[in-house]
Amino acid sequence: MGDGALSGWERSSTARVIAPARPRKLAKVPFVELADGRLQGVVSSGSDIGRVYVSSVTAGEFAYACSTNNNRPCGGARGSYCNHIAAMVKEAVLQYGAERVARYLKCDLADAEPDAASLTRAMLATRPPAGDSKAAATVFSRFLRHLAYLEFDPATAPLPEMQWFPPTRAVA
Ligand SMILES: [Zn+2]
Repeated sequence: MGDGALSGWERSSTARVIAPARPRKLAKVPFVELADGRLQGVVSSGSDIGRVYVSSVTAGEFAYACSTNNNRPCGGARGSYCNHIAAMVKEAVLQYGAERVARYLKCDLADAEPDAASLTRAMLATRPPAGDSKAAATVFSRFLRHLAYLEFDPATAPLPEMQWFPPTRAVA
């Protein structure tokens, strides 16, 4: 069976849809959200395209967790935030704005200019504890659902299923 035998859904599989996004920022942090009392997201591994990390920081306590999609703990997230968490904070600031992210996380920036660096500094200054990575599976499955929407042809008609989700602007 050659390529000609591929069905429509095989040709439009997730792997093929992701590839063109790589040169953009999405390739580094394909998914980030403020939800369930956490800043959480999915961060690509810098070295292995088959691996992603699921990172999270809780609101209020700034407890951090980072593990791979196969539930292996991230070696960099021991005693402090790893690069994945730093990348996620940066991307969240791009997506939501530093003030909204700080407000959601209940992070007091004092007089600092609100940006990803001051946010990360302020959280680290509280010596945040390591959190548990129980949420990783949930975050990852939300990411996969989110990816499924990339497979639709662009259209302006409303997607009834999406009405279950609040608009991202209403998050904080
Ligand atoms: Zn990590």
